[in-house]
Amino acid sequence: VCGPGQIARLPDLIKHAMEKKGKQLSVSDAIRKAADNPELEEFESVYDRADKDIPGQAFVRAMRGCDNFCTYCIVPYVRGPETSRPINKIVEQVKRLADDGVKLVTLLGQAVNKYQYRAGEKTYTLADLLYKVSEIDGIEWLRFVTSYPRKEGFTELMQVMADSPKVCNYLHMPAQSGSDKILKAMNRRYTAQQYLELIDAAREIVPDISVAGDFIVGVPGETDDDFERTAELVKKARYKNCFVFKYSPRPGTTADKSLQDNIPEEIKKQRNYRLLEVQEKTSAELAKQFENKQVTVLVEGLSKKPHLNSAENDNNPQLVGRTADDWIVVFNGPASLTGQFARVNITRTSPLTLFGELI
Ligand code: SF4
Repeated sequence: VCGPGQIARLPDLIKHAMEKKGKQLSVSDAIRKAADNPELEEFESVYDRADKDIPGQAFVRAMRGCDNFCTYCIVPYVRGPETSRPINKIVEQVKRLADDGVKLVTLLGQAVNKYQYRAGEKTYTLADLLYKVSEIDGIEWLRFVTSYPRKEGFTELMQVMADSPKVCNYLHMPAQSGSDKILKAMNRRYTAQQYLELIDAAREIVPDISVAGDFIVGVPGETDDDFERTAELVKKARYKNCFVFKYSPRPGTTADKSLQDNIPEEIKKQRNYRLLEVQEKTSAELAKQFENKQVTVLVEGLSKKPHLNSAENDNNPQLVGRTADDWIVVFNGPASLTGQFARVNITRTSPLTLFGELI
C-alpha cells in the first residue's frame, strides 16, 4: 500500500515485497511538515519534472495535495495533504527550463494560492514565489492555477500581478455555485457575496484581469432557485470563460456517502446548457473588445481544427496561440513561429476565439 506522498518509494516497496515476500506499507504524511525532512528529497525526485508538451511552455508543480475536503471531491483522498515544494527547488527547476527555451511557466497546485513554504524564519507565499520566478531571465510569462477563493494573501497576489509585467493578468478561480446553501453543502468556505467581493478586489488592483471559473450543476438538493443564483453569479463575475460540469458522485467522498444524487440527468443537462449560454453572452462581449486591436500571443502550433476561409498553404498554415490573459488566437503564419511570441491584429471574434492576421 503506497500513499500518494510516497510514490518515489514504490520501486523500493516492490523490491522489499519481492525479497521478503511480505506486505509493504508506506502511507505517512510526514513529508508535508518539515523542509528538512529527508523524505522531501524523494518527493522532489517525483515532482521535479515539468510537463512540456506545448512548445515554449512548461507546467511546474508548486504544491500537491489538498486539505480543503470539498464534499464532492476525491482529490484530498487520492493526492494526500497539501505539500508545498521548496522555493529554491522550484526556482532552480524554472532556471533550467528557461535555459531550454521555455518562455511561459504555469505553476500548478489544486489550491495553488495556499502555497506556503517555511525556510528558517521566513514563510514564503505564492506571491513570494511569483516574485522570485519572475526574476529569472528568459521566462517572459508566468501563470498559476488553480486558486481557491480565499481572502488570505489575495491582495498580495493581485499586487504581484499588477507589479510584475511577467505575471499574466489571468485568474482561474472556481466558484462552483452561486447559492450559499449549495456552497455550504459542498463545504466551500465562502459565500457567493464573498466570492464576488474577491473578483471586485481583483479588478480594482488589476483592471484588465481575465477571470475563468468552474461550476458544478445538479448537485444533490440544488433547486431551480439555487441554480438561478448560480446563473446570476456567472453574469456578475463577467468571466472570460467558464468550465461547467454536471454533478456525478465520486465513490469515497462525503457527498457520495451522505447525499442522494437526486437531480435528474435531464435537468443537469439543461442547467449545464443554460449556464454555458449565459457565459457565452459575456464571452462574446469581452471578445468583441479585441476587434482591430493588436495582441501578443505565444504560438502553440498548428491549429487542430482549421477554420474555413483561412488563406492556408504549406508555408502559411493556420496557427493557434494564446494571449497572456489566455484568449485563444487563430491566425495564419509560418509553422516556425511555434513556441515563439508573435503580434497579431485581431480582425474578428467569436465567444471563445479571436481571429486575426500576423503583423
Ligand atoms: Fe481541493 Fe479543489 Fe477538491 Fe476542493 S475541489 S477538495 S479545493 S482539489
